[in-house]
Amino acid sequence: MQNQNIAPSSTSRDKPFVIVTEVGTRDGLQIEKTFVPTEKKIELINDMIAAGIRSIEVTSFVSPKAVPQMADAEEVLAGIAKRSDTRLSALVPNLRAAERAVRTPADALVLLCSASNTHNRKNLNRSVDETIARFPEVASCLLAGANPKKVIGAVATAFGCPFEGDIAISQVLKIATGYVKAGATEITLSDTTGMATPVNIRALVRAVRAELPNVDLALHLHNTRGIGLANVLVGLGEGITRYDSSMGELGGCPFAAGATGNICTEDLLYLLAESGYETGVDLEKAIAIALKAETILGRRLTGQVMRSGPRLRLHAADAVATAAG
Ligand code: ZN
Repeated sequence: MQNQNIAPSSTSRDKPFVIVTEVGTRDGLQIEKTFVPTEKKIELINDMIAAGIRSIEVTSFVSPKAVPQMADAEEVLAGIAKRSDTRLSALVPNLRAAERAVRTPADALVLLCSASNTHNRKNLNRSVDETIARFPEVASCLLAGANPKKVIGAVATAFGCPFEGDIAISQVLKIATGYVKAGATEITLSDTTGMATPVNIRALVRAVRAELPNVDLALHLHNTRGIGLANVLVGLGEGITRYDSSMGELGGCPFAAGATGNICTEDLLYLLAESGYETGVDLEKAIAIALKAETILGRRLTGQVMRSGPRLRLHAADAVATAAG
């Protein structure tokens, strides 16, 4: 199930492995109005790799006019001290983006479509059906040549839309099936504006699994209504082993008011470790990265474990054993 180039190399093979994809420099920074210098973005990503994060959504090949913060996509990717076991990915919203992305060191590229027509028009300026119709040409561009890229399909607003409300499961399945037909091997179900709940996470994951049993599934969750990590627990219960998160709980959506941060990387790492999962990531180093990001941005971030630190372990003989140890 796990992608070979980010499969765990740890010795903790008794614990289930969860892949944490850091999206802070993409989802997190895209709404920041002040341009973060390219070398600072590279520094944060290199720190993440040193902390053990093996999957990073680095940037987006969106038009620099639409999102000036992402104008340095090529330079950031070229500047990363990449390891062979680390997967670098980026968003490609259209064919022009794909043509730029194939010439970079990115391993995987993420196609984008919202399940909501209204959100998709605001984001990509076309309907859902028009977007699906263009999947093959975008994916073909990424899969062609001597160094084909892995193709990931992201379904935005999969759990609800701020303009249209509830989203029909059939609409998500239509988009996901379009991705797979175009060559995608991984689907990300994105809760773009924090409308996922334990009930709709369970229902949608089961429906996509039933329709597309051979595809790897990931969850991209936002903590807009404070239940992001509760939704992770539901995802874990459904066997999902891939989650997107942002350092310090950075994040948002430039086209959806009130869409606050992604679930927080350090808080997610803490939850996973304390629930008996292996991530390969050093939590203390992840906290240091969130604090550095706070300094770079010059404002307080909302992650919680970055303030409190991990819990104290007393090692008492009669202590309640945690699932992690
Ligand atoms: Zn997001």
